Amino acid sequence: MTSYVAAIDQGTTSTRCMIFDHSGRVVAVDQREHEQIFPKAGWVEHNAEEIWENTRAVAAGALAKGDLVAGDIVAVGITNQRETTLVWDRTTGKPVYNAIVWQDTRTDKIVNDLGALGGGQERYREKVGLPLATYFSGPKIKWILDNVDGAREKAEAGDLVFGNMDTWVLWNMTGGVDGGVHVTDPTNASRTMLMDLDTLTWDAGIAEEMTIPLSMLPEIRSSSETYGKVREKGALAGVPIAGILGDQQAATFGQACLSPGEAKNTYGTGNFMLLNTGTEKVMSDNGLLTTVCYKIGSNDTVYALEGSIAVTGSLVQWLRDNLGLIGSAAEVEEHARTVEDNGGAYFVPAFSGLFAPYWRSDARGAIVGLTRYVNKGHIARAVLEATAFQSREVIDAMNADSGVPLKSLKVDGGMVVNELLMQFQADILGVPVIRPVVNETTALGAAYAAGLAVGFWKSEDDIRNNWAQDKQWDPSMDEARREAEYRNWKKAVTKTFDWVE
Ligand code: ADP
Repeated sequence: MTSYVAAIDQGTTSTRCMIFDHSGRVVAVDQREHEQIFPKAGWVEHNAEEIWENTRAVAAGALAKGDLVAGDIVAVGITNQRETTLVWDRTTGKPVYNAIVWQDTRTDKIVNDLGALGGGQERYREKVGLPLATYFSGPKIKWILDNVDGAREKAEAGDLVFGNMDTWVLWNMTGGVDGGVHVTDPTNASRTMLMDLDTLTWDAGIAEEMTIPLSMLPEIRSSSETYGKVREKGALAGVPIAGILGDQQAATFGQACLSPGEAKNTYGTGNFMLLNTGTEKVMSDNGLLTTVCYKIGSNDTVYALEGSIAVTGSLVQWLRDNLGLIGSAAEVEEHARTVEDNGGAYFVPAFSGLFAPYWRSDARGAIVGLTRYVNKGHIARAVLEATAFQSREVIDAMNADSGVPLKSLKVDGGMVVNELLMQFQADILGVPVIRPVVNETTALGAAYAAGLAVGFWKSEDDIRNNWAQDKQWDPSMDEARREAEYRNWKKAVTKTFDWVE
């Protein structure tokens, strides 16, 4: 009998279930989008109950499409949008508030107040590897406890629990109010600002400063081990859940970046470049994050340097949904191809402030360099180029931190079908850009973590052997033009600063 591994990929815009065979090929997939809730400028929420319903539905859908039953699946892995924060009542299973999404900037004041206690943005970096920023979970938990009626009292009484979406999905899959497992992994925990990167345990001092009761926080286990079995009566009933990786770490794993010095860039809602730094925890001098890359069972922890960019693919969505300039994401490329270059226009999408390498929550978006000459095609091009320029800034920071220039870049995610973008990316970086055959590296990484735990894959070499190249783009822009374009971009970025007090 052939067996398979399933992955639940709880992403920012949708939830997917993908089923993989031993060679790492996709056998079946089902996907559902969920609502993006924007209650105010800068706020972004998800309905966690809708997400849980979608999770159950896509698990059933993927099995049905693959003509499979639970008995064909040897393990399930979970991967998820990181940082997105949920607090729920463990006695009723009900969230006390919508999930506050990673892009949400409402914790601006909390973050500034914490920085003012001393050390500013760098206050916790030494311990947690992160600058103080609205992006991370800790301040979002504090916001919920401070602003939802009765939440703090219930949390202190031990009734409320916190989880990122991995923990929410795992808790529900393993029975919810009826014995659900309240667990996370170090990759997710390393995005809360609450986990000590050396000990992989919650830091009581930081939790106290953020007024978060430790009793709310999930147990931190490794990224690859059996946490429990699916107990709810859905399609995967009885299957062991054996892997958890935050989405970007999962993609790093799925791209087989398993040795120090190997990096990938994922082009989704935002962009996330991760460089495997091995068992060494490298602190950034250039605006990158230090984060856990993965911890496989009892093996040593592997760390990564990360460059996070808040807005890349979501700028294409904005062009479609807010401006109606395109009818579908793919159309952006058609429009961009009607012109030779950006016509002098640069679009800096600082919609959630700017993440790496700037970490400026006071920034807001700008289109600069406009003249009467600029048309729809130029704007479409500027939209795509924004993704490539932002990625160049992150690579420059990585090269500076590691001292070893990257020789090529492995890419994945929803935007890498865009050939114009991929060529421009190679041009603006000056190194080849390489796309793998299996572009669904996030789900694949979670499947690998789960499959390793149950012996479906024997070692990391199985993962390396499964990786295969689909296409490579080589740089063709001359150096002088590359650097002139990049200088213009840098100038455009400075126009986005100081928009919020
Ligand atoms: P996530 O996992 O973050 O939800 P995906 O990896 O599924 O995101 O990528 C979706 C993103 O890719 C969307 O923001 C969408 O705008 C963008 N996208 C999809 N197709 C294209 C395309 N042909 N050109 C440019 N961007 C695209």
